[in-house]
Amino acid sequence: MDDISYMIAIHELAKADASHAITVSAHTTLGTSPIVRFGTPEQQERFVPLLASGQVLGGFGLTEPGAGSDAGGTQTVAVKADGGWVLNGSKIFITHAGVGELFVATAATDREKGSRGSLRLSSPSRPRIWKKRALGIGHSEELPFAEGVRAGKKKTRWDGAPPTRVS
Ligand SMILES: Cc1cc2nc3c(=O)[nH]c(=O)nc-3n(C[C@H](O)[C@H](O)[C@H](O)COP(=O)(O)OP(=O)(O)OC[C@H]3O[C@@H](n4cnc5c(N)ncnc54)[C@H](O)[C@@H]3O)c2cc1C
Repeated sequence: MDDISYMIAIHELAKADASHAITVSAHTTLGTSPIVRFGTPEQQERFVPLLASGQVLGGFGLTEPGAGSDAGGTQTVAVKADGGWVLNGSKIFITHAGVGELFVATAATDREKGSRGSLRLSSPSRPRIWKKRALGIGHSEELPFAEGVRAGKKKTRWDGAPPTRVS
């Protein structure tokens, strides 16, 4: 369907549960559409059916502890190695981190070009299968673990200082 239909569907879901709406939208818009629009034919053939059928959850990693809106200020870098890429960096606030299996992440391939040097790569992450089962989320055995990809401790508003009451 078209973009308006998509927005109506997300809007209607959000009326009942905003959290569920962001899960669907992060999976489709953030996690799947970059592969549909910019992925190689091999990435599209391999990953899109898994995502579109809902077999695995996808996500998108742009935000870092030091930069969010300012995408060009992110520090993660990608360096070509052994026919692939090695990413070095750290992301924060990533919807589905720890339960998703396919993440599109931004990384600079050329720091001098700033955000124009950003590259979006699809990277199967190490799933916490026990957690996925508990949440009723699917899993695909055919996705290899990406060495070194690790979800950190889930941040909640209960971390650190006690919650502030707003009247
Ligand atoms: C529920 C939730 C889910 C999220 N999921 C994801 C995800 O899946 N993947 C991901 O990558 N990120 C995710 N994020 C992170 C989100 O994209 C960032 O928090 C957002 O981009 C803002 O970045 P920041 O937190 O660094 O704040 P900042 O960019 O530091 O902004 C702080 C304040 O400054 C203002 N500001 C920033 N730049 C300017 C400017 N140029 N001019 C004027 N004002 C400005 C902002 O409006 C804001 O009020 C999520 C965040 C939330 C809350």
